[in-house]
Amino acid sequence: MPPTSDPGRPSVPGSGHEGFRLLAVHAHPDDESSKGAATTARYVAGGARVCVVSCTGGERGDVLNEKLLTDPHILRDIAQVRRDEMRAAAAVLGIEHVWLGFVDSGLPEGDPLPPLPEGCFALEPLPVTTEALVRVIRDFRPHVVTTYDELGGYPHPDHIMTHTVSMSAFAAAGDPTAYPHAGPAWQPLKLYYNQNHSGGRIQAFHEALLARGLDSPYAEWVANLARRPARHITTRVPCADFFPVRDRALLAHATQVDPEGSWFRVPRELEREVWPTEDFEAALCYVPVVEVEDDLFAGLASPTAADALALRQDLALSFDGRVTV
Ligand SMILES: [Zn+2]
Repeated sequence: MPPTSDPGRPSVPGSGHEGFRLLAVHAHPDDESSKGAATTARYVAGGARVCVVSCTGGERGDVLNEKLLTDPHILRDIAQVRRDEMRAAAAVLGIEHVWLGFVDSGLPEGDPLPPLPEGCFALEPLPVTTEALVRVIRDFRPHVVTTYDELGGYPHPDHIMTHTVSMSAFAAAGDPTAYPHAGPAWQPLKLYYNQNHSGGRIQAFHEALLARGLDSPYAEWVANLARRPARHITTRVPCADFFPVRDRALLAHATQVDPEGSWFRVPRELEREVWPTEDFEAALCYVPVVEVEDDLFAGLASPTAADALALRQDLALSFDGRVTV
């Protein structure tokens, strides 16, 4: 739980992000609060505009908070409950929010896996989902976009599709011949993958907990880390002052987040000391990436200069960190 003395959303004096715009693309309501949330809150406090896109409504999410499992309103209308939770989380983070309007694919379970439900996000034709996201990009005109890596961060069909659609829309948004009815061309200048649940971070928490004589819930994760592909972290955004804001946003998704659950197992003072950043992996950038960055807007001289760059038709990629599957 956040401390009761939480001073609210802290300010970042002189952080100089006024006029910049960040678009964070996520699969379900609650993903924006568990992946990069403190970063978004930090940029809002620094004067940037931040918009979160939720590709689906999270309609097929299970209720993960035991205390709410028998709540009749939740059982009757989970879709509306999740819309209300998302509105509350957006208010906590200070972000703008857009629903892309596609239907949650659910997490298929069983052996063999059942087919995906008809009409779900993961089965939509790519031009349909791409056009929807291109429309958002051309309307909000972000300088920087964040999404998931090619593995989805974890193997939920909606997370993998969120990656695919983000890559496709990032490539199309600046091309005036692509989706001409979806608004005037706008090329976002940088695309990043969220990597704030990296193996390095989990291992650091595991070791810090044991060093303090505390139980670690991560022994099994750490034992399996070698099987996870190593990621190339290019950017670490200091945002520990905004961890309490992130926690409040997470708790706003009451059906999805158990206040006694895994999100809150690492003592907050230890988290702040051991890993005070949220981390990202640059995927495609039209300005050079100088490692290790501490700012998603690094390399963009000013909002005005970035606006001019995003409207050019002769841009060439400076950085390509994509991993081919
Ligand atoms: Zn999700």
